[in-house]
Amino acid sequence: MSKFHTLVRRFEPGNLYLAVLCVAGLAAFIHTNQWSYFRYSTSDWVLVYTMLGAALMMEYFTFQLPPEGNTQSMDSSIYLACIFIYGSELSLSVLLLSSIIVAVYNRKINVWRHMANFSVYCLMIFVSSYVYIWAGGIAGPLDNENLLPYFLALTAYCVTNAIAIGLYYFIRFRYSLYDSLRGFFAESLLVYLCTLILSLILTVLIVHNGILGLLLFLGITILLSHAFKQLFDMYRKIEEKANMDRRTGLFNHSYFENILEVEMHKAKAEGTPLTLALIDIDDFKKYNDHFGHLKGDQLLGFLGERLKQESEGSEVTVSRYGGEEFTLLMPGMELEEAYRYIDRIRKKLNDTYFDGVEIFPHGCLSFSAGVAPYQIDLYDKSQLVDQADKALYYAKKQGKNVVHAYGSHNSIEQEINLGQEIHDIEQQLNLFIYKDIGTFKHSKRVFKYAMDMSEVLQLQPQEKRTFVLGALIHDIGKLELPWNVLNKKEKLTDEEWELIKSHVTWGKRIASTNENFKELIPYIELHHERYDGKGYPYGFRGSEIPRLCRMLTIIDSFDAMTTERPYQQTKSVEQAITELRACAGTQFDPELTELFIRYIQDLHHMHVSSKEENDELVSPMLD
Ligand code: GH3
Ligand code: MG
Ligand code: MG
Repeated sequence: MSKFHTLVRRFEPGNLYLAVLCVAGLAAFIHTNQWSYFRYSTSDWVLVYTMLGAALMMEYFTFQLPPEGNTQSMDSSIYLACIFIYGSELSLSVLLLSSIIVAVYNRKINVWRHMANFSVYCLMIFVSSYVYIWAGGIAGPLDNENLLPYFLALTAYCVTNAIAIGLYYFIRFRYSLYDSLRGFFAESLLVYLCTLILSLILTVLIVHNGILGLLLFLGITILLSHAFKQLFDMYRKIEEKANMDRRTGLFNHSYFENILEVEMHKAKAEGTPLTLALIDIDDFKKYNDHFGHLKGDQLLGFLGERLKQESEGSEVTVSRYGGEEFTLLMPGMELEEAYRYIDRIRKKLNDTYFDGVEIFPHGCLSFSAGVAPYQIDLYDKSQLVDQADKALYYAKKQGKNVVHAYGSHNSIEQEINLGQEIHDIEQQLNLFIYKDIGTFKHSKRVFKYAMDMSEVLQLQPQEKRTFVLGALIHDIGKLELPWNVLNKKEKLTDEEWELIKSHVTWGKRIASTNENFKELIPYIELHHERYDGKGYPYGFRGSEIPRLCRMLTIIDSFDAMTTERPYQQTKSVEQAITELRACAGTQFDPELTELFIRYIQDLHHMHVSSKEENDELVSPMLD
């Protein structure tokens, strides 16, 4: 079985492509070079060895470029100069010898990769020399007449390289060919232009000054390579400083923000788990007050060191979030695993002595932590941090020195909290009573539908909480709109429509000012997104819009259809249902639309039947 798998892997498209590349490269080599080694005179050999030495020097003294530190070799300028002065045959002779020496020297790299590399170079030399001759270029000294052929030859050299490599990434990793090519040119265009100019300079130097010219050329390249290396080292050091927190030796807040974005992107694209923990030292102020800030700083440094040790060799990134708060970003870990990981660190820390820990209420160094898993519905990195923060808040409330997982609160406590939170939002909505009574009533009706739908959808307590509160608060941004626009009875102008649309952004700003409302932002911000991506403010489509926001859009629209509005006829329930169905798949999520329609139909029948029952009850008494 395993042999079979190995065989299959060998024949995967990426490897097959490399094999084809090697055959093509070899064919180009044999066709052009024609066993030239057997015909070389002594002076030819001297030339080959000289150019070989130069190519190897270029291979060794590379240019290292930020930000990734990719090294760029300028050996292409040697091969191009060879083409321009002596023709492609000699260029390939030098290439073969140089490739063999590099392969022997660098045995760690798979021989197939050496082969593939050699083949790509063969193809590049073959194509560019073909284009050079085709454009009228003649091998020999630098000739002003040859400027166009020089340029075309270099373009062909560069394009062949880009296509050969772009195709590999396309076949092997399914990267878009267009994106690969664009990335390649964006990164390498400057380098290739340098290569062209260098190859022309080299041509002049060799033709006029022979070996001395070549030595001069190599001298300047080596010095430049050295300067680039120093610059890159400096860049690395500055980058490291910019990303580090000096007190703890951990990454700092801004690095954390960057890596969080990158990891969330990866988790979304690859469907891999990702969990974030936010930890906060318990009663740190007490320690500071007792021993002074300097000692407090030492404790922070000590904790930073411990956290670093714990995460060493793993994919976990530890950062100082600020003050005495730290984040641990854990790619590849599900919530349960991350919970155990953080709890283990917590226990270990409880057992670790540091000067003065006796004064802490627990008699030891401790922290509280909130862990929150990345979910596909999250579209902004601040949401994940908010969830971890919420969980941390619960951990503190439970008496500290505790790890709490987001969404696992006690449900009775949650019900009590929910009542309070509904009350808080209603207080805010009261402002609508004088400003726009329609929005006030609408918000309350939408809230009621959301309460019912959270039963239909069998939401977990935490989901239900944000969903119903989100439904209640979703139009809060309208508070910022002018009274005359909100209550206008005539048709709205285009500008007024734009203003109305901005209520989602205003709402987001209002909610951001209150810690408790932050989790509701998606409902406020996204309830006008459409399933087909034609909504606002982002134009998210399908599953890019969180599921419960898609649900809220349906409820919101249904309520708008069935209540009185200026310039639009009120629809009956049946008409509204027809309209919802007509827009399912474009404006609304079709699956959720059907669920909502079923609920509305049930609700409707219930009313009818209860009315009949009442009539029946009343009639006999009248008799
Ligand atoms: P809790 O258990 O609720 O987290 O209580 P706490 O005392 O840890 O939290 P609180 O937020 O009340 O106080 C945090 C303290 O951390 C206050 C501040 O002086 C201290 N602090 C923040 N940054 C630093 C720092 O860089 N060095 C020192 N020495 N203290 C810091
Ligand atoms: Mg704190
Ligand atoms: Mg604290």
